[in-house]
Amino acid sequence: MLRPWQVSVQNWMICYSMSDEPSFRCPVCRATQTLRETCRRCQADLSLVVRAHRRLAYLKHLHAQTLANSDLESAEQFVAELRWLAPSR
Ligand SMILES: [Zn+2]
Repeated sequence: MLRPWQVSVQNWMICYSMSDEPSFRCPVCRATQTLRETCRRCQADLSLVVRAHRRLAYLKHLHAQTLANSDLESAEQFVAELRWLAPSR
C-alpha cells in the first residue's frame, strides 16, 4: 500500500493544475496576473514565489490524502509546514 506522501508526480501535477489560485499580485509592483516566473509589468524574477505556491499546493494535496487515510501524525506535519509557508491561510 502506498503511503500518502508517495503519490505520483503525475497525480500531484493534476492537483496543481486545479489550484484555487489562478491569479496573484506581484510582490514588487502589485500587478495582478496569473502565477508566472517573471512579472508581466516589472519583469521581477518571481521564480521563488512560484516554487512556494507549488509547494503550498503540494502540501494541501498531501494533507488531504493523509486525512483521507486517517494518518493524523503525518497530517499534523503537513499542517505545520503549511502554517510556516503561509501563516495567514
Ligand atoms: Zn511586478
